[in-house]
Amino acid sequence: MAVKVGIPNALLYYIYYPLWQAFFNEIGVQVVTSGKTTKDILNNGVREALADACVPVKIFFGHVMGLKDRVDYLFIPRVVCVNRKTIYCPKFLGLPDMIRHSITGLPPVIDIRMDSRQGYFAMLKAYTEIGSIFNASKHSSFRAYKKACRTLNRYNKLLQSGWNPHEAMSLLRKPGSLSKPPEPSLNFAVIGYPYNIYDSFISVNLLDKLRRLGVGTITTENISPLLLAWQKNCGLPKRLFWTFSDRALKAAHLLFKQGRIDGMLHLTAFGCGPDSLLNKFIELEAKKYKNIPFMTLMIDEHTGEAGMSTRLEAFVDMVKRRKEALACLK
Ligand code: SF4
Repeated sequence: MAVKVGIPNALLYYIYYPLWQAFFNEIGVQVVTSGKTTKDILNNGVREALADACVPVKIFFGHVMGLKDRVDYLFIPRVVCVNRKTIYCPKFLGLPDMIRHSITGLPPVIDIRMDSRQGYFAMLKAYTEIGSIFNASKHSSFRAYKKACRTLNRYNKLLQSGWNPHEAMSLLRKPGSLSKPPEPSLNFAVIGYPYNIYDSFISVNLLDKLRRLGVGTITTENISPLLLAWQKNCGLPKRLFWTFSDRALKAAHLLFKQGRIDGMLHLTAFGCGPDSLLNKFIELEAKKYKNIPFMTLMIDEHTGEAGMSTRLEAFVDMVKRRKEALACLK
C-alpha cells in the first residue's frame, strides 16, 4: 500500500497544490487532502490554535486536525521565499512549529525549509530532500520536480486566463470540462490573499455571491507576474516585505491604473498584521480613483452569511446605479 501524505486545504494549498500533488504522485506517494473548510474544521482550529492567530491560520489548524489520523505524514513545508525578493508572512515561517507544539498525536511532519535565497538550486535541493524521506533517488526526485514544475506552469496559465484555483484544478484533471460564463455586466477586482478569497467557507462564498449578482471578478492570481513586477514599489520607498501583501498591493495599483474594473473589494482577515498596513496603502490609492468605488470587507471566525450578503448587495447596487447614471450623462 502506498504511503499517504496529508496536505491541508488551506494557506499555500491554493498556490502550490498542483505542484505538490504531481511531485508526490511521481515518486509513488499518495496524497490525501482535508477537503473543503467546514464549521467543524473551523471550530477545531479555533480550539487548537493560539487565540491571537489570524483566522486563516486557525483554519489551517482545523484542517490538520481533520487529516492527522488518516495519513502517514503531514506535509507542512516551511516556505520562506520563492522569488529571492520577498518573504512569506512570519506565520508561514513558524507554521510547522506552531502545529507541532499545539496539536498532539501528529504523524511525522515534513517541514523542509524552502528558501530560494539559499542558491539557484535551493528549491530542487528541498524537493530532493523530501524525496529522500520516501527513498526516492536524487534522479527520481529531480524528474518528479521537473514534471511538477510543468504542472504548476499549466496551472498558473489557467489562473492567468481567468479561472479560479478550484476551476483550474478541475481543468488540469479534465481539460475542456468547464466553459467560461457569459460576459458579466460589471467587473470587480477582489484583492486579498488566495487562502481567504478562494476558501468559500471563510469568505462566505464571496465569489459565488458576486457571480450570482452578475459581477465578474479578477484577482491577483489572474494577473501575469510580469505585469505585477512592472508596478515596482508602488510609489513606496521600498517594496512590502511579505510576498502576498506585495503582490496584492501591486495588483490593486495595476487594476486601478488600467481602469477596466467597475469596483474594487479588499478582503482582509481579522488579526492579520501585514493587512493593517496593506489595507491602508490600498485605501490611499483608492482615494486617487474616485471613479472606482472601493470597499474593505473584514472576515473573522464569526462572519455571518447575512451580514456579508447585505454589504455586497448594497455595494453592487450602488456601483450599478452609478454606472447607469454616468451612461445617461454621456
Ligand atoms: S498574511 Fe495575514 S492572514 Fe496571512 S498568514 Fe500572515 S497574518 Fe495570517
